[in-house]
Amino acid sequence: MKKKIGIQMISIATVAIILTAILVMFAFYEMFQRQIWDNMKIYAQILQSVEKPDEATMARYRELEQELRVTWIAENGDVIYDSDVEQDTMDNHGERPEVVEARKHGDATQIRMSDTVNKSYYYYATVLHDGSVLRLAREADSLVSMILAGVPVIIGVALVIWLLCAILSRVLTNSLVEPIEDMAAQLDAQDQVETYEELIPFVQLVKKQHEDIMHSVTMRQDFTANVSHELKTPLTAISGYSELIENGMATEGDVRRFAGEIHRSANRLLTLINDTIRLSELDSAEQNVSMEPVNLYYIAETCVNMLKINAENHDVNLEFSGKLVAVVADRQMMEELVYNLCDNAIRYNNPGGYVYVSVGEMEKEIYLKVKDTGIGIAKEHQERIFERFYRVDKSRSKSTGGTGLGLAIVKHIVARCNARIDLESKPGEGTEITVYFKKSR
Ligand code: ADP
Repeated sequence: MKKKIGIQMISIATVAIILTAILVMFAFYEMFQRQIWDNMKIYAQILQSVEKPDEATMARYRELEQELRVTWIAENGDVIYDSDVEQDTMDNHGERPEVVEARKHGDATQIRMSDTVNKSYYYYATVLHDGSVLRLAREADSLVSMILAGVPVIIGVALVIWLLCAILSRVLTNSLVEPIEDMAAQLDAQDQVETYEELIPFVQLVKKQHEDIMHSVTMRQDFTANVSHELKTPLTAISGYSELIENGMATEGDVRRFAGEIHRSANRLLTLINDTIRLSELDSAEQNVSMEPVNLYYIAETCVNMLKINAENHDVNLEFSGKLVAVVADRQMMEELVYNLCDNAIRYNNPGGYVYVSVGEMEKEIYLKVKDTGIGIAKEHQERIFERFYRVDKSRSKSTGGTGLGLAIVKHIVARCNARIDLESKPGEGTEITVYFKKSR
């Protein structure tokens, strides 16, 4: 990239130099030409002012102006005098373009190859009082050589400009690229990298992404450690009880009890594994969800009916109310959402308590509300209960078959459905969790 910028700058400079040189030469040429004509006119005027021009005057004048060729042409076209060529050898000049023109308009200018001398000339011709024509000529070669003389200067200037461009492009690209290179080298200490204004949004974006990646890595590591830890307890129990049976150390009564423990632990493992799989499914963006209008009322009603026995076992009254409402969501996700919220409301309730499940709509939103008269959640835990494996009372959670993943799954589902969740709870009074869905239009 640095090389590319350098080459581009030098190319731009080269084009600029060439264009400037052409323009300067052109302007210079114009000026030079005008000056030549003006000079020749003045010389002609001086010669004209001589009362009766003769060869001697011409010759004398010519001595003064070495560069000028003076030709004096009689009315009939015969050359009376020429400063550079022997006039006897010269043909009739009456038909020379500048002479013809001068006869028509009084005077004329012309640039052409001389027929007599094989060189390019500037010609100025003017008619004198006696009808003869005075013609002044100046070699055009001198102009070309003058321009050629300027070429080394132009090349010199170009070299200096190229050098400046090379240095400048290096300094500029370094100041542009260095902060980016520094940033890549010290991803963890980006605050120390010196940047410039235009780079700040980019730095912040990279910083945020880097932090997100680090956060997600830490979360994954924590999660893996937590899952392993959670799996260990039931597996240890299974291993321990089965070993006792294997060694014949359990009486017949024990065997039944141990089998029960093994069964419970195995179930716990299954729930844990299921929840973990579900979370990782929800984590991966590729998971195909079929978003469609689903009837939230029926889903909630079915779920409540399913949990009725569970509620009775906990001596909790489960009630459902609401009206027919539809949301755009994934059916399985909606079932999980209602199930997890209701299951918690039953499990963290008091004997004789209530769970009210309701669905309804507001002006812009559709809601699902699960309200219980249970143990409630203290303020300091309210934010954290949606974290994976966060439990207020671990033993109560475990004894009621909790994994600590239910609300994490809920949080994921809510995010997937573009919904929002609201929690209100007071310890000893109960909890009310409401999920608000956007109305489909
Ligand atoms: P668990 O499997 O332990 O229930 P969750 O993710 O579903 O895990 O919930 C996390 C924690 O939040 C629970 O352990 C419990 O302490 C608390 N909690 C969840 N719902 C309620 C509720 N309705 N009333 C009181 N506490 C609750």
